[in-house]
Amino acid sequence: MARYIGPVCKICRREGMKLYMKGDRCYSEKCAITRRPKPPGQHGDKRIKLSEYGIRLREKNKVRKIYGVLEKQYRKYFSIADRQKGRTGENLLGLLERRLDNIVYRLGFAASRNEGRQVVLHNHVLVNGKRVNVPSFQVKVGDQVVIREQARAQKRIESAIAASDARPQLSWLEVDKKNFAGTIKGLPVREELNEPAIREQYVVEYYSR
Ligand code: SF4
Repeated sequence: MARYIGPVCKICRREGMKLYMKGDRCYSEKCAITRRPKPPGQHGDKRIKLSEYGIRLREKNKVRKIYGVLEKQYRKYFSIADRQKGRTGENLLGLLERRLDNIVYRLGFAASRNEGRQVVLHNHVLVNGKRVNVPSFQVKVGDQVVIREQARAQKRIESAIAASDARPQLSWLEVDKKNFAGTIKGLPVREELNEPAIREQYVVEYYSR
């Protein structure tokens, strides 16, 4: 599946907030939001008033880019979320959160979702003892995610684990850093998904036009 490969810091600058897409750099002085906190482009500092439609379109794309999915797949997630019971916006976030690349990032075995995607694609992840190399794989409650032994000595995985202490712990995930393992204890909790701030209702409104 294809993915966005353009400059990600520009997306943060456009949104005016950190979207944490570059791993360690996001927590350092080098973060573009710290260094150049204005929208990208020659006329970036001009104020533009977005229309109601524009606000929803922007939010829809922001969430999509945070999780690194393309429009077609994102739309599919939306239609699944819409058919599920409960609030569509929360269902959508739940589906995005349960992607395997996101889980690898959330467990602290990758510095960003993009890196999580690489770790999965490079065959470094076992789900319930079986190798899974599909970043969009949906984990279920009770699943166990483990980094394969041959990948554990990798510098990027080691440093991601060390840096992950700075990130908030999620109640629905149990991490065993010593054994490079994690368990999905429950469904994603919406209240814990506020960094960066997401207004999923706007995504629902965008697709429900
Ligand atoms: Fe770039 Fe990360 Fe800062 Fe966003 S939060 S601007 S991705 S360094």
